[in-house]
Amino acid sequence: MNIILFGPPGAGKGTQAQFIVQKHNYFQLSTGDLLRKEVKLKTTLGVQIEKLITNGKFASDEIVNTLLRQSITNLKFRDRIIFDGYPRNVDQAKNLELILSEFNQTIGHIIFLNVSKEIIEKRIMGRMTCDRCNMTLNEFFNKDQIELHPCGKEHLKKRKDDNFDVIVSRYDTYMKTTKPVLDFYSKKVNLTEIDGAAEIELITSKINSVLNV
Ligand code: AMP
Repeated sequence: MNIILFGPPGAGKGTQAQFIVQKHNYFQLSTGDLLRKEVKLKTTLGVQIEKLITNGKFASDEIVNTLLRQSITNLKFRDRIIFDGYPRNVDQAKNLELILSEFNQTIGHIIFLNVSKEIIEKRIMGRMTCDRCNMTLNEFFNKDQIELHPCGKEHLKKRKDDNFDVIVSRYDTYMKTTKPVLDFYSKKVNLTEIDGAAEIELITSKINSVLNV
């Protein structure tokens, strides 16, 4: 059974995906991470993607769907994928259905982390991600953990698209383009809404209880 972690940028999808990976033996499939990997490799595609991401624009469905297909068809991940940042529009949701049914797989749960725009702004402005272990910390809320980070604090980097103007535009795109995906799934899949503004541990325990049923 695959899972979709759904919510606006900064809802905590990546953080919670890492806990699910550890506890439930899942594989996190973050399309944002796949795109950033391509940017890091400085391929021709990577250069195009970087411009889009930096400006808060979506990568094309064609690019994202190709990257996604490579992971879905990997037998190691079969029926144990947690989708983080995908689908981001209704066409991507339809594409996901097609690929999954082609490979006899399903979506078991959608977990919707709902967070207000005000909280998202605070979270994203302080977000730092480790370029070695992918852990995410916040420069305002996790000062001690940053100093003690096992990989060394020099590995904690801010994303270029985590600035105020880009956040506002990413949030608007989420409301217009991504949120309608919930309607697409509402009658098909178990959908659970969780308050994404709650403490990280509380959200994790709610997700655990949903996944253990
Ligand atoms: P994220 O790491 O999920 O916040 O994604 C970072 C950026 O990557 C987004 O703002 C988009 O520019 C791009 N991106 C990630 N996932 C997708 C997707 N499913 N479709 C299109 N663009 C995406």
